[in-house]
This record gives sequence, C-alpha cells and structure tokens, in this order.
Amino acid sequence: MKKEGSGVPAKIWKVDPSDPDPRAIEEAASILKSGGVVAFPTETVYGLGAIYNLVEAVKKVFQAKKRPMDNPLILHVSSFSQVSELAVDIPLEVHELAKRFWPGPLTIVLPKSARVPREVTGGLGKVAIRMPAHNVALKLIEAAGAPIAAPSANLSGRPSPTTAQHVIEDLGDAIDGILDAGETLYGVESTVIDLTSRPPVLLRPGSMPVEEIEKVLGVKIFIPSFARGLGEAEKAVAPGTKYRHYSPRATLILVESRDTINIEKVVAKIRELATYHLGLGKKVGILCTDETRDRYLDLPAEVISLGSRRDFFQIAKRLYPSLRTFDSKNVDIILAEPVEERGLGLTIMNRLRKASSQRILV
Ligand code: AMP
Ligand code: MG
Repeated sequence: MKKEGSGVPAKIWKVDPSDPDPRAIEEAASILKSGGVVAFPTETVYGLGAIYNLVEAVKKVFQAKKRPMDNPLILHVSSFSQVSELAVDIPLEVHELAKRFWPGPLTIVLPKSARVPREVTGGLGKVAIRMPAHNVALKLIEAAGAPIAAPSANLSGRPSPTTAQHVIEDLGDAIDGILDAGETLYGVESTVIDLTSRPPVLLRPGSMPVEEIEKVLGVKIFIPSFARGLGEAEKAVAPGTKYRHYSPRATLILVESRDTINIEKVVAKIRELATYHLGLGKKVGILCTDETRDRYLDLPAEVISLGSRRDFFQIAKRLYPSLRTFDSKNVDIILAEPVEERGLGLTIMNRLRKASSQRILV
C-alpha cells in the first residue's frame, strides 16, 4: 500500500482556468478514456474523475481516496441531454432547477438508469448528477465524451482540496494526472438535493443556499438533522454521511450557542478552553472571525480568522484551507466559533460539526 502523500502524479498540467490549453485537456481526456483517473478543478473543490461506466477506473477512484465503496459518487455532465442517459423518471422540476442553477453547485439525486454501474452509486438505486460551472471541468467532460464520476480529490475523511497542491498532498502518485487551474471559487462542495422524495430532501448543504433552491421549487425542502451535521440515528440511512468528514488531523472542538449565538459567551469559553489546553502543553489553534480575532491575540495560540461574520461566502471558502494550515503547523487542538445556520451558514455549521470531535454548548 502506497504511503499517504507519496510522490506526485505523472502528469501535472498547469492551465488557465478560463481558457485552458486544448492539448492539456485532450491529454487528460485520453488518460480518462483509457481507464485512468485524473483530478480536475470545479467551481466548488477539486474532483478526482473517472469515466462513469469504466468500472475498473471507478474502483481506482475509491482506492486512491481510500473511500468506503458504499459512499456514492456524483456524476458530472457537460450538457443537459446527458441526464437522460443517467437517470429515469425525471420530474419536471429538474428542468427548472437546471435552467436556473446549471452549470453550478447544485447536485440532483434521481432514480438511476440501468447504464450507471452499481459501483458508482454504492449499490443504491439513485444517482447524483450535476453540471459544474468551471471551464476546465466542462471541457474535460466534453473531450472525454461521457459523464465523469468525481468525488472530491482528497483522502477520505480529510478536508476537501481547494488547490492542486492539496490534491497532491493527499493523493500523490496514486492518481494519473491533475489539471491545475489554481484556487477554486467556492471552496466547499455542492449542495445535494434528493428529488426522489416529496418534499425534496437536503442530503448535504453546500455552496448553493437551500433558500435559493426553494424559491425555484416553490416548496420547502426537508432538512434532516444529519444535513445540519447532527444526529447519530440517521447516519446509517444517508449515504456518505455516516463517516467523520472534512477533518483536520488535530482534534476540533466546536463551541456553539444553544439558541441565537451569544458571541461574548463563545469567546469566553474558547479562551477558557485554550488556557486549559495550553496549560497541558498542547499546541492550540483558534478558528475565529474578524470581529473576534483581537480577543485571542494575547494567547500563545495559532489564531486564524475566516473573515467577517457577515461574509459567509468568505468563511466557507477559507474553512478547508485553514484546517489544512493548522495541520501544517502541527496544532493539537482547534477551537472553533459557530455561525448562524442560514444560507451558507448551514453549510459551514455542517462542515464544522462533521469535522469536530466534540461540541460544547454555551
Ligand atoms: P463528494 O463527491 O466526495 O463530495 O461526495 C459525494 C456525496 O454526494 C456523497 O457523500 C453523498 O452525500 C452524495 N451522493 C452521491 N451520490 C448519491 C446518491 N446516489 N444518493 C444519495 N446521495 C448521493
Ligand atoms: Mg468528499
């Protein structure tokens, strides 16, 4: 078994995100067509792709990531017509959603067609589909001539990669190549909605706020507690939600408020916990916001602000790279602040809770 992070992929193509070199795209596509696995940027995070119906290639994706085989992959399309190849009984709303959100960070779960191998869907009768809003991803899918199955290009359980460097750190030469187009736009994964139930169910909050999707659907989307990053009982029924996720190597402790956030109480608790762990000789990291950063600077801790508490886009975007920065500084304990659970705040709280080993309510 290869060591984590060993080596580099045989091919690294540096490309312009808006106008990638067609030769790089062609080369990457031909590796995919011959059964290889290639990492590529999307507007959310980097993905690790295989052509969806080449089963051996799909298996390589699971192996490279050390991903459990029952955690299904999202299929990426470059045209709406590919949806009818992958799914059956497509409800009318899919057209509305696609018109408004594709290309973009919305993944739609539908009944799968017989063409989709069971390895892709973890044995489920449903398939997850999206059209990414990134020129490199779209051109790669077009050149490959088929939908591409692609989970995030990180080792299973680690924070998703927002740069090619993160992909190389995690997957090294376990993959055949990587298209490097710099940092991704959102830095957090797509929103996943299951349209096979009524009302539609949120399986994973992501970079498209649920409220925006509800406006188009004209109905409330059901938000199960696991989609908020809470609850143990539901874990077994929602694919991909039963494992600890998005985690740094350090132990992350999330300080939350019981109702509306009382930031004074949160800061006081984080200071108390920091002092305690520093006293034990631990290296402490504090994940905070611009509004609270100054409150921690007297402590001998690594302090990272994710941005203003009013700017969820920035907070979501900086979350994964910041968790990786703490790891590179060999921090033992990360103490994190909460945000309000609305819009992208729901996504941020889901990721923080799933990355955490402990939650403390103040
Ligand atoms: P990743 O591509 O690593 O961001 O993970 C893809 C996620 O999409 C999975 O963990 C599931 O939450 C969701 N997903 C993918 N395919 C399906 C499916 N067939 N049914 C339900 N959820 C899915
Ligand atoms: Mg993932």
